[in-house]
Amino acid sequence: MSGAVLGSFEISLIRDSIYWWDGGAFFGVVPKTLWSRKIPADELNRIPAAFNSYLIRTGEHQILIETGGGDKMDARARERMKLPPEPEPLPAAIARHGFDPEAIDIVINSHLHWDHCGGNTILTGETARPAFPRARYFAPRGEWEHAHERLIRDSVSYIDANYDPLVESGRMTLVDGDCEIAPGVRMRRAPGHNRDMTVVTAESAGRTFCFLSDLVPTSAHLQPSWVAAFDLYPLQAIETKTEWLRAAAEGDWLCGFAHDVEVDFARIVAHPKTTFALG
Ligand SMILES: [Zn+2]
Repeated sequence: MSGAVLGSFEISLIRDSIYWWDGGAFFGVVPKTLWSRKIPADELNRIPAAFNSYLIRTGEHQILIETGGGDKMDARARERMKLPPEPEPLPAAIARHGFDPEAIDIVINSHLHWDHCGGNTILTGETARPAFPRARYFAPRGEWEHAHERLIRDSVSYIDANYDPLVESGRMTLVDGDCEIAPGVRMRRAPGHNRDMTVVTAESAGRTFCFLSDLVPTSAHLQPSWVAAFDLYPLQAIETKTEWLRAAAEGDWLCGFAHDVEVDFARIVAHPKTTFALG
């Protein structure tokens, strides 16, 4: 279990599981000779990536950021990612980390790619029911609209059973732009990975935690030009990443990565060669 106290907030990392994904997809135009020094690839060029969720306990609310990969991939897809054949439901993983999944009353999806909202719902036969029955779910409206455009480039990233049943039943609120979800906890638009992805900030007693989502998927992506091949707007991703990491360094923020397998919480510092580095 890994946690941090931030003012009156307690923040915990739930590392749901590790999956293996093509290293080239994660690092775009960065040569493999460079990125593989940071994260070595296996014989199929895959690197390990985590499904990281963060639980913020504010005293008033228990807020879950992201819900991991979920249970909607078939056996072949799971095998390709070196995932166990049967998924562990996210509430069980949360309980295994020592927390009560039933107490979660807010779930935030930074965006709606399958690896960030897969555990929103649990499939029973054909029916996807909410994994967190007490919770109100939040996601960016632009992401939900984009998911339904079914573009050739990225439709494979969206699985409607992760969010449509929640939207239809009124459990999911679609958020326009920046939005305070609970006192001190905000979704903030950070375009680049795609148009409407958000980062999530939590502020208490003058301290800030920032979940960087796919803007900085792992600590190996701190150098601004190291953006993933699946980013839809790489130039904008570089600009947005620089802005947010500068703010993180100047404000001495605590940061969380969506897919890092080792770093639970990070501080960011300026670096003469790579612009930013772990503090
Ligand atoms: Zn994504």
